[in-house]
Amino acid sequence: MVEATDRKSAAPDGSDENPKKEERRWTLADFDIGKPLGRGKFGNVYLARERKSKYVVALKVLFKNQLQQSQVEHQLRREIEIQSHLRHPNILRLYGYFYDQTRVYLILEYAARGELYKELQRCRVFGEKRAATYIASLARALMYCHEKHVIHRDIKPENLLVGMKGELKIADFGWSVHTFNRRRTMCGTLDYLPPEMVESKEHDAGVDIWSLGILCYEFLFGSPPFEAKMTSDTYKRITRVDLKFPPKPVISAAAKDLICQLLVKDSSQRLPLKQLLVHPWILANADPSGIYGSFVS
Ligand code: AMP
Repeated sequence: MVEATDRKSAAPDGSDENPKKEERRWTLADFDIGKPLGRGKFGNVYLARERKSKYVVALKVLFKNQLQQSQVEHQLRREIEIQSHLRHPNILRLYGYFYDQTRVYLILEYAARGELYKELQRCRVFGEKRAATYIASLARALMYCHEKHVIHRDIKPENLLVGMKGELKIADFGWSVHTFNRRRTMCGTLDYLPPEMVESKEHDAGVDIWSLGILCYEFLFGSPPFEAKMTSDTYKRITRVDLKFPPKPVISAAAKDLICQLLVKDSSQRLPLKQLLVHPWILANADPSGIYGSFVS
């Protein structure tokens, strides 16, 4: 049985204590495999422990034939390349990878409290303090990414995990790009797509700011703002920024003001992340530790 234990260093090969240490070659024999943590589109995720260091990780097992069939090998390479270079408390670490004839294995930081999506489904909505704490920690993580010219492009509850202390971890960099240019690729999930991506126009780091606005709305009201039965209607509502606030639950004017400043059609006019962090609603509600410990919303 593999259980989370106290850790001396933040990486299974000790590379955080000794950054110059050469990258290690891993094999499946280096790990004790524990319980399944979840099932993904291309394989399964297991709790695992590196035998030597006793370091607990999540091991994601992807099947090569499924990756090939869906033509996502390129996307996976990009995800590995980007995520393995990011070091931030609110970004899930990717410690390394290895492969055999049929599978690719990703050695990931273990997020003990699982998916935020499930937590939001359980609570239906989050209170303003909890929502603001999450939005502020994501803004800090995205600022870090943008400084490194990485845009995530697929921020949504399904891609957020929760760590042992209740801190959010951005996972799934499958749609992220390392970019110095503006891009035109259509990607991401419908409800979270910004107008410029719906209209297949060039886009930049502003897409992540938009998705924080959608996320903030979904945290507070329980569903994304432009939801519609028909896909074409969602597209229309996004391009028109048809933003409406339901009367219930009662949400503060400051929260609505922040959402309105993030969900702006012109990406250059969206509130910069640095300013988001000093918005009155964030200052009044976000826990500066970035940790929302209690499960009560
Ligand atoms: P994925 O293939 O990334 O969608 O992962 C499938 C499921 O495994 C997720 O929905 C989570 O419930 C779980 N999972 C994935 N990665 C981790 C992790 N690093 N820590 C804990 N659970 C995880």
